[in-house]
Order: sequence, then C-alpha cells, then structure tokens
Amino acid sequence: MGIICPVCREVDSAVLPYLDGGWSDLDLFSDLSIVVCQGCGFGQATPAPSSEHLTEFYRSRYREESSDFYVNFAQKKSRGHAGIDFRSLSQLSLATMFCDFQAQDVLLDLGPGWGGSFQTAREIFEKPALAAIELNSGADLMYERLYGAKCYATTRDFLESSGRLAKIAILSHSLEHYAVRDIPTLLNDLHEVVSIDGALVIEVPHDDFRSRKATLAFQTPHLCFFSPESLQMALVQAGWNVEFIKTCSHLITPDGIGRPSPKVEIRGSSSWRTRLRKNIPDSMVPTFRVARSLKNELMRACGVRNLAQLNLVYGSGRDCLRAVATHSKSRTSRINAPI
Ligand SMILES: [Zn+2]
Repeated sequence: MGIICPVCREVDSAVLPYLDGGWSDLDLFSDLSIVVCQGCGFGQATPAPSSEHLTEFYRSRYREESSDFYVNFAQKKSRGHAGIDFRSLSQLSLATMFCDFQAQDVLLDLGPGWGGSFQTAREIFEKPALAAIELNSGADLMYERLYGAKCYATTRDFLESSGRLAKIAILSHSLEHYAVRDIPTLLNDLHEVVSIDGALVIEVPHDDFRSRKATLAFQTPHLCFFSPESLQMALVQAGWNVEFIKTCSHLITPDGIGRPSPKVEIRGSSSWRTRLRKNIPDSMVPTFRVARSLKNELMRACGVRNLAQLNLVYGSGRDCLRAVATHSKSRTSRINAPI
C-alpha cells in the first residue's frame, strides 16, 4: 500500500535513496528513504528521527567544528559588503512589498545562521526589533552581541517573553529541516506570531524529485523536499494567502562534499585613480575619459554579475523556492471574530 501524501493526499509515490553525508558517527539519518509524491512533488524523509533526537542534534551537533555548517559564534564578526547580505536584502525587500515595516517593528528569523537578515535589516530598516528562534547553544550570545537581537527556543517562548508580534517572520532554509509531522503545527503556530498586517517569508531548496535527478552530494539533515506546488499547497492548507512564489538562483547541479561557496570580492575606490586624474596632461584628457567610460561600463557589467550571484546563490549553485505569505482574509476574519 502506498503512502498518502500529507500535502495533497495522493497515494502515487516513488521511493528514492536518502544521501547521507557528514556526522558519520550518527545513525540519525543513515536509514532514511525519500518518499516523493507523484501528484504534488512533495518529498519526505522517512522514517523521520524523533523530535528529541532532532532537538539534541541541532543544539549540539549541527554547528560543531567538524561540521560543514560550522559557525564559530564566539568569534564571529559582522560581514563586509557594506553591511548587506544580498540574499537577505532580496527577501526583506520582497516582504516589504506586502507589509509596511515601521520603526521598532519586529523581524523574527527562525534559524538566522550567522545573522545575515539581522545585519541587513539594521542597514535598511529604521530601528528594527530583532528576534531569533534558534536552538544552537552559543548563537544567542552572538546575535545579542553583534545585532542586539534576542534569542528564543520556540515561537511560544518568543510570544510569552517578548509580548510582541512579528511584522516579518523569515524561515530561510529552515523549513526543510523540520520533520513532516511538525510542519502543519509550525505553519499554524506562525499565525499567532505574525501580526495581522505582517508577512511570512519562506525560502527552501527547490527539490522536486519527480523531474530532477541531480541533487546535492548529500541531503543530511534535510527531512522535507519541496516543489513549487507542494510549498504553495502546504501554506494554503495552513491558512496562509500565498502572495508570491517563484524559483530563484541557478538550476541545481551536482556538487562535491565540502566544496566552498562562490566568493565574490567587491573592491572600494582606490586612491591611484585620483592621483592619475590630477597628473595627466590636458592633451591626454579625452583619451582618459574614453578609458574611464570603458572601465565604468566593464565595472557595471561585473557589478551586475556579482550582485546576481550574491543575491540569489545559496550554497553552491542551488536552485531555490522563495515565497511570501500573508494571513488569508477568511482566517483573519475568524481571528478577529468576537468569541
Ligand atoms: Zn502530494
């Protein structure tokens, strides 16, 4: 008997091997398979590890020094690029198309990693209140130290301790880490967390295994795999109105374990250009202007390419899905209805 898809209820599914990599001493992900719904493209790793084991994994192992996802939270400094993380910039800019983020409004990031959304929010918003949901020990101190962000273990903790609602909540490459059994509850709980006039931003890898054979070298520790249809359906079923959903970044290609992400250098202005301008003879000025014009054109083209990479690339050339959702009107009226 086939497995019923938790998203679309279809029973037609295919089973793929789960590519386990990293944490070779753990058997948490070693006996998994991926069941892919042929109706909506949703994939789930099964049998999913228990909630207790997953909590312990993210608390102590996910960011450990031997991990590909290691972050030294104690030593971390703010990144360069004028304080802007371009992926966060594109996500936050998109969110503000659907909500009006004002001074002191809350940006809640569920799984902020090194804190790119916080760093960017401080550059583009006026006095944002920053909050994180993060299990990793040590991350909380870094978010507070670098960005003045408060850290909470759960959305419930956030609501009870802060007494605030989030104008924007972001799950950027977080949702795929949840076990499928926990996703409906999470998406439902987020209704309590995001203000009525707020927006929810979700970005996940585009992993529709109905149509694509290529994947990353390993899938650990992802437990859910989304097509555009399945992400949209999961959000709608949880009472969200999907305002935007698109693929972004490059088409997925196989890569090697531990291959570094593309690095792009953006150089500031150099004093040699000023010195050159002051010292050239008048007869050379027209030639200089032509050369400067060509150089500017070249730099503009390079800049656009660099921005495109920084804006959209996640990991090493990975195709992603980006969605923005708001409270659906029918649900909003229920929330506002007198008891
Ligand atoms: Zn399905």
